[in-house]
Amino acid sequence: MTISAHPRKWFPQFYGNTAIRAVASASRWTVSGRVSDDDTEAKVPIDVRHLLAGCTTACRHDGKLRGAFALNDTCLMDLAELTVALPHARNHAFYLQTQTDGLVVIDIEPTCPPDIAADLLRLPDILYSELSMSARGYHLIAPVPANLHDFPTAAGKRVLREEHGWYEILFDHWVTFTRTPIPERIIGRAAAATAAAPRFASVNELYRDLAEHARVNPSMPSTAVGTGRSMPEIPHAAEVVEHTLLNARGRLRGPSDFDDDLSRWEFSVLGTLYHEMQVPLRTYSALGVHYSTSDRTWLLYRAALEVIPARAKHHQSRNGRAFLLDRAAALVADREAAALRAPHEGVSPAR
Ligand SMILES: [Zn+2]
Repeated sequence: MTISAHPRKWFPQFYGNTAIRAVASASRWTVSGRVSDDDTEAKVPIDVRHLLAGCTTACRHDGKLRGAFALNDTCLMDLAELTVALPHARNHAFYLQTQTDGLVVIDIEPTCPPDIAADLLRLPDILYSELSMSARGYHLIAPVPANLHDFPTAAGKRVLREEHGWYEILFDHWVTFTRTPIPERIIGRAAAATAAAPRFASVNELYRDLAEHARVNPSMPSTAVGTGRSMPEIPHAAEVVEHTLLNARGRLRGPSDFDDDLSRWEFSVLGTLYHEMQVPLRTYSALGVHYSTSDRTWLLYRAALEVIPARAKHHQSRNGRAFLLDRAAALVADREAAALRAPHEGVSPAR
C-alpha cells in the first residue's frame, strides 16, 4: 500500500455512492474512537482537527484524543479533507441533519430478529447500505420520507426508536459508517426468505409506524426539579453516596448493552443508582432527616460522577446547569412522576 493510496480503492461503494457524495461537502465528518485509554469505553466522534494538530500545554482532557464538541469545522471536516488527512481511518463518523441533508438513516441493531431485518433490507428507495460496526447490524440511507411532517409528536425528535430497540430512524444524529458493504449472501437471503408481503412497503410506511407510536415528551421535564448551581449542605451526603455505590457494584450495565449509545447508557446508570440510593435514604429518613427533591438529585449526580467517565458532552450546559446534573434531574423527575401515578409502589420502582 502506497502513501498516495486513497481509501476509495478499498471502499468504492461508499465513496462513489450518490447519497454519500451528496453530503460529502458538509463539514460534519470525523472518525470515531476512544477518548480514553480504557478500551471498555465506547467510541465517540473525535475532534479530528485537534488529533492532527496535537495537544498543547492547555489541554485538560484525559487520554490522547478529545471528543468533538462542535458540529462544524472547528472540530470536523468535509469528506475529501478527512480522507486526505486520515487515509487509513477505520471508520467515518458523520453528523446527519435530515432537514439540511434530505436523508434519513435506518439503523438496524444486532438484536433485530432476522425476519424483520430481512424486511427492512428489502425496503425500496434505499440509496446506500452497509454493515454496522458490530458486523451484525446494518445502516441504510434513504431519502427523507414524504410524510415527515404529518406526525406532530414525532416532529423534532432526533431519533425514532422501535419499541424493542431493534431498529431506529436517525434524523439529527451521529452515524459511524464502516463503509463495508452487506455481503451478497445476506442480501440474497433477505430477498428469498420472505414469501409473505414485507411489513413495510416503503420508508414512508416504516416512518409512519414509528411516528404514530412516538411518545409525547416525558410527563415531567427535568426542569420540574430545581437544583440551584452548587450543591447545598446535605446531611450524611458522603455516606449516602458511598452506600449507593457499594449497592450498585456489579449491577451497572455497560455501554455495549446500549450499542455504545452513551446517552442511553448514562441514563440507565442513573436509574440503577437512583434505585440503590433508596436504601440509604430510607435509613437516614427513619432517623428524621428530610431529603428534598433537589437533595436527591445532587446525591444522584455525585454518585454518577464516580462511575460515569467524563466526556466532552458533560461540559455542555443544559437548563442552566451541568449536563449530567440535568440528566439526574430528568431521572428524578421521571421516577417521581411514576411514583405519583402508582403511589402504592413508593418512590422505588422495580428494577
Ligand atoms: Zn489535547
